[in-house]
Amino acid sequence: MIKPRINILALGGTIATRPDASGAMQMGLGADDLVAAVPELAALADITAETVSKVGSHSLGFDQIHALAVRIAGLDTDGVIVTQGTDTLEETAFLLDLLLVRDIPVIVTAAMRNPALTSPDGPGNLLAAVRVACDPWIRAHARVLGVMAVMLDEVYAAADVVKAHPTRLNAFAAPQSGPLAALVEDRIVPLSRPVREPITLAQARLGDASHGKAQPVALLWLGLDEPGFLVQALLDGRDHLGYRGVVLGAMGGGHVPERMAPLATRLAEVLPVVMSARAGAGGPLLRQTYGGPSSEIALRKAGLIWGGRLQPLKARVLLETCLRAGLGRAAIAEVFDAFG
Ligand code: GLU
Repeated sequence: MIKPRINILALGGTIATRPDASGAMQMGLGADDLVAAVPELAALADITAETVSKVGSHSLGFDQIHALAVRIAGLDTDGVIVTQGTDTLEETAFLLDLLLVRDIPVIVTAAMRNPALTSPDGPGNLLAAVRVACDPWIRAHARVLGVMAVMLDEVYAAADVVKAHPTRLNAFAAPQSGPLAALVEDRIVPLSRPVREPITLAQARLGDASHGKAQPVALLWLGLDEPGFLVQALLDGRDHLGYRGVVLGAMGGGHVPERMAPLATRLAEVLPVVMSARAGAGGPLLRQTYGGPSSEIALRKAGLIWGGRLQPLKARVLLETCLRAGLGRAAIAEVFDAFG
């Protein structure tokens, strides 16, 4: 039987750390080290391993992920595994999903427990990711599944996966949809298929966003009694601050504290402002239930863009990508609208 060709691209993260002389974990392992720690891989696939970088995912940038997407798009292979840190995995996987249209599995995986600990999860996650990439059902549905994350024997859609805990082994979840599949023994058990239409529409509008320049997007999480000083600062200092868009982590079904509603409205006149549910499991937001100046009806009328079911971190990724692609306000609103 011909084994699938799988490319492993290593970016860094806990999965690629090793202890320094003081015992502190530092980036250091490359893709070959990760593969050498999992001898079972050779029986499953014809592996090509490449170290792209050795950085923590908290220090990755949009430009690096755009370059990675171009690299993945050009690979002649049957599947791609990206290894990285867990901190921004929910964002990088979603960005790759927006940028890539491929008929092969593209999977992001990582580790919560570092290689110096008893029972690190990196080797098991890498093995699981390769198993998933080689699975016939996954390969047959690769385009519909889009970019996936594999953690702790579960497979998640990039648009749905979140890091729900900073340290626990079972840190990842898809609160809105649940996993796409589970790995049991050596079998992949399909559980669901993602709703793909919003991503397909976004891809059609985005075109080749990789050629665009970085477009910084601010993320403001709205808490009890937020006075809006940061929104005021964005209004006063728009040019020198350099933000090109704003995501508001909105209360409830799409509300802001009443005292800052006029500021949010003014901000939406000068920058694209996306409302995205701050509630743990994400949206969708309401559209037409509550009245009053800080309600979803008034804010939508005032031109704030509705983030649908996307959580704030994912809304920020989508807004940056839309701006990078040069989309105007109406096109951005149309892209977000498809997410509910
Ligand atoms: N903060 C580091 C990173 O995201 C380590 C976290 C991890 O990999 O789990 O790369």
